[in-house]
Parts: sequence; structure tokens; C-alpha cells
Amino acid sequence: MTSSRIADRVRRIKQSPSSAAAERAAELRRQGKDIVNLVVGEPDFDTPAHIRHAAAAAIEAGQTRYTATAGTPALRQAIAAKFKRENGLDYAPNEIIATCGAKHAIFNALAITVQSGDEVLVPAPYWVSYPDMVLACDGTPVIVPCVEADGFKLTPTTLERAITPRTKWLILNSPSNPTGATYTIDELRALATVLERHPQVLVMTDDIYEHIRFGDQPTPHLLNAAPALRERTLLVNGVSKTYAMTGWRIGYAAGPADLVGALDILQSQSTSNPSSVSQAAALAALTGDQSFVAEFAEVYRRRRDRGLALINAIPGLSCRTPDGAFYLFINCGGLLGRTTPEGRVLESDIDVVMYFLESTGVALVAGTAYGLSPYMRMSIATSVETIEEGCRRMAGAVTALR
Ligand code: PLP
Repeated sequence: MTSSRIADRVRRIKQSPSSAAAERAAELRRQGKDIVNLVVGEPDFDTPAHIRHAAAAAIEAGQTRYTATAGTPALRQAIAAKFKRENGLDYAPNEIIATCGAKHAIFNALAITVQSGDEVLVPAPYWVSYPDMVLACDGTPVIVPCVEADGFKLTPTTLERAITPRTKWLILNSPSNPTGATYTIDELRALATVLERHPQVLVMTDDIYEHIRFGDQPTPHLLNAAPALRERTLLVNGVSKTYAMTGWRIGYAAGPADLVGALDILQSQSTSNPSSVSQAAALAALTGDQSFVAEFAEVYRRRRDRGLALINAIPGLSCRTPDGAFYLFINCGGLLGRTTPEGRVLESDIDVVMYFLESTGVALVAGTAYGLSPYMRMSIATSVETIEEGCRRMAGAVTALR
């Protein structure tokens, strides 16, 4: 049995359900099926020209060698300036590390801290990778359900109930993938009051969707609400979503010196620095013209409004208005118990998603993958025409149900 060669902690994890859904959609398309792909979790814009040109210039200037493990001094300085400018937070460059994407920062942060038996609180619906990353680091993910009636957000009561003496981390993702839920400063203050009673709990804030925000106010950060948590908070962010740079693989983390120091050591013995050319591109992104960031957000807002109107007009489907990120998290509970034209009863969100895929070629991801059912995630990081076509097909498929 070759599987026995693989360590137990790795055998506990599975492929990301969103990549599995994306691969399935791609496979059906290769087979010649007409697929409307509403799975994608990345901006559909090109990386802006000035960023691409900075990368090309870096190659020509010979910036093609190893850099400091934690990233070039210039990039770390630019990240520190970003925290000051956009979040009102003070971080010195030596409290910052650049990583190969935010995902890498989150994984390494768990790897340097989590011991067997340690619990990591993961509010659900969650980004699919958190629980598996915890498992891969030999920890125990503790899923904390956050229901639609609470806006899919953690409340002080649910947080208090979930904390035990083994709790190592709370992961907070605002705006959230998949719901778009974004904590207000008052909600963050209320959560901080609970955290203040449990000094052993570290907090990881995954701020990757910070700038994909539909209101006119900046996304509040936990540390704006509760500066006293600074000594046990690790901020994770990156350029992937804000600057349409998913393929460049640059993320970063900022936090207390012991955590960032351990991240640096682990990175030095694993990946070393993130790509030097991508670092030059990220530097240009963070220090260059920022006007298109709001323009991207405005495009997503128009798509969100169109998608919401169409989905909420389909009997049996409903969707709360997301405050940020680029997804609609759609309640499909109204379709459960209905029967397909082939005589199959829809019993779960997985059945609903399969029905939409097989009958009309619309690819979505089931809410089960994000730890809350019965829902499905629809990406709006695609054209309005694609969103309209997907919704038109879903409406037809719902009409065909008995
Ligand atoms: N965090 C969340 C909530 C995400 O949705 C994603 C990507 O889908 C990431 C982190 C990963 O970002 P990166 O591309 O910087 O690794």
C-alpha cells in the first residue's frame, strides 16, 4: 500500500473542494460541454500594466538572485507604509515577512505554533483551506458555526463558548470568503472583550479581501478596535486579490517579533524568499497608483447587485447582501425535497450543485465545502454576461423541478 508512505497528518487532509470543482468544470468543458464557470476565486482583471512593467524592469536590472528570506528591505518598508497609510497601524520592517502568497503565511504561522492537540477556532462558513491546514500541522480545527441570522458572523457568545484551555488560535477572515460578511468596528470590539479574558488565544486576521469592499468606509481591523491585542495578533494579507496578482504569489504577515522570527526561520529552511521578480512587482503595486483598486471594487459591486437581483428572483434561492469579497453565498434550502426531471430528490446542497452542473452546465461550489449547509457559493469575479447567463440557466433548471 503506497498510501502508508504518507504521514498520518497529511493523510487527514483533502484537495481543496473549490479546486476540485474548478477542475471538474474544466474537464466537462474539455469534453465539449457548454459550462458557465461560477467557481473561480480570483480576479478576472489583468495585473495592471505598471506592475507588469516593474517586474520586467527588475528582470532586466538583474534582480534575479536570492533576496533576504523575509523579502527585500524595500518591499518590507512598502508593506509597513501600507499598514500605516491604510490601517493606521505601526509595524517596523523587521516585524514583517513576505511570503509565497497569503496561503503560505497562514500555513507557516500554524506550522510554527500548533502542537498536537492544540485547537484552532475556525468560524464557519470558512475559507476551505483553514481546517485542512490545521490538520496538516497536527492540530484540531474547531468549527464554530456562524448562522445566516447572525450575518454569518461570530458573536461574543459563540466565541466564548468555543474557547477552551487548548485554544491556540482564532482565525478571523473579514471580508469573508465565502460570505462577504465584514465585521464592523463595534462587532470587533465585542469580540475583543471576549478575547481579553483568554490571554492564551492568538488571533490570525486574514485580510486578503480588505479592498474588495462595497461600502464607502475602509474595512475596520481588529487592532483598530482593540490595540491591546497587538502582542498576540498576526495580520495576514497579500497582493493577490487587491491587485489582481494571484499568480505572482506574494503575501505577507506582520506581528510580534517571536512569531515573525520563527516564520523567518521556517521559511529559510523551506522555500527561502518568495520570487525576487514577484517582490519587485508587489513593491510597484503597493507604492504605485492606487486609483484602480476602488475601480475594481466598483466593478465587483455592480456585478454583486446584478447577481443578487437575479438570484433573489429565483423561487427557492435567496442570498444575503455581501459587504465585500467577490462571492454570493446562496441559501438553496428552498430546493431541498424537490425532484429533478430524472426523478432524483434533491437532499443536500451537493445534490443541488450537481443538478445545476449536470442539467444546465452551471458550475458552483456546495456550501458543505465551507462548513455550512444548505448553501452554494457563486463567484462574481467574472463578467456580468456570465453571471446573467448562469442565473438564467439556474432559473430554468429550478422551473423544471417537481
Ligand atoms: N485567504 C482567503 C480567505 C482566500 O480566499 C484566499 C484565496 O482564495 C487566500 C487567503 C490565499 O491568498 P493568496 O493567493 O495570497 O495565497
